Amino acid sequence: MRRAFIHILIALIGLFAATPLWADEGKANEVKATRLWPSPEYSRVAFELGEAASYKYFSLNNPDRLVLDLDGVEPNAALLDMCGKVSPSDPQIASIKVGKNRPGVTRVVIALKTAVRAQIFPLKPMGDYGHRLVVDIYPANQDSAAEKPADTAVGKAAKGVAEQEPVKEPKAATGIALAGKDAKSAKPEYVRLITVAVDAGHGGEDPGAKGANGSHEKDITLSIARRLKTLIDKQENMRAFLTRDGDYFIPLQERVNKARRAQADLFVSIHADAFAKSHARGSSVFALSEKGATSAAAKWLARHENEADLIGGVNIDVKDPYLKQTLIDLSQTQAISDSLRLGRAVLTELGGINQLHKGQVEQAGFAVLKAPDIPSILVETAFISNPDEEKRLTDEAYQDTLANAIVAGIKHYFEKNPPLARNKVAQSL
Ligand SMILES: [Zn+2]
Repeated sequence: MRRAFIHILIALIGLFAATPLWADEGKANEVKATRLWPSPEYSRVAFELGEAASYKYFSLNNPDRLVLDLDGVEPNAALLDMCGKVSPSDPQIASIKVGKNRPGVTRVVIALKTAVRAQIFPLKPMGDYGHRLVVDIYPANQDSAAEKPADTAVGKAAKGVAEQEPVKEPKAATGIALAGKDAKSAKPEYVRLITVAVDAGHGGEDPGAKGANGSHEKDITLSIARRLKTLIDKQENMRAFLTRDGDYFIPLQERVNKARRAQADLFVSIHADAFAKSHARGSSVFALSEKGATSAAAKWLARHENEADLIGGVNIDVKDPYLKQTLIDLSQTQAISDSLRLGRAVLTELGGINQLHKGQVEQAGFAVLKAPDIPSILVETAFISNPDEEKRLTDEAYQDTLANAIVAGIKHYFEKNPPLARNKVAQSL
């Protein structure tokens, strides 16, 4: 008895003693996967590791390179795989090389096509992902959106930034369409051009929901969003821009910022989510709630959607300069009542082409709907988790049908709520 006890004791002491030794000596950290997300705005390299990464980095010029040393990491297939993944059309990255630098240190050299500014940050395990180390590479002449100066009031900031904005968002509504074609008319009738921000939910590191047959929400939302943009651009007095036009991640707040910089009249976020129950079906439309959610399901969905930033990966060390001004803006109540009107118009049209999940516009605290001055809705086109609806969602003809219904809803909304004239437009004449 006593002997057995001592044996166990020795074994336990051995374990305690061995643990720190192993930790010091081996420190083996395995790269499980690598992913590259090139885009015109920034290129992202993501390393997924067995443990939190220990790393150092520096940059070299002539030619421009970013060097990343990963401690306790051995070059393996997942890491080497990355070298072959660089797309020739990547706007920032020319090539990636991986090699053993010294015992226990693997060096990753990212050759750059242009001068860049990089953000390197770790992410804790989230969703289906383990520990991640993320390298975001922005062109040097373009500020990463989150670092833009926050020195001016709401209106000024929105306008000021729009003028420097290098991405292809339209600038503030300076365009106008001439509606009255009668040249004899004494007063020509000008119609203000309506700008619609079309937001394809999720993207890049954040796949969104997954369908039973393997489709990803992020691909479906982008395809529907592009169709919606094409349809909106065909309208005489409307134009659309996409908050993302590729498979890359945009933080929720940045989607809102883009719409504000472009002085969008509407913000429409496209989704196709999953619910725990695969028989859940139908389309729904959501608006922001200042107070509580209108149902438990709406609350669940908003929480789920807001996790996009955690899954997609946001550098929390960079403060968003727009956040504060968004919170203090008092026009939110008006924006919400307009959002509900827009939501009802779109929901009515969706009811004509698909079963509705709920007969009214629901509300919850969706971060992507928080523009204080832009009516904003989130459209859950259908449930990707329902096999029947997944099949329809991946069908191009049905994607067109969905886009048509949304644009019809937008037009009905503007018929009843004409956009207010902007002083700015008058001045620009
Ligand atoms: Zn979604």
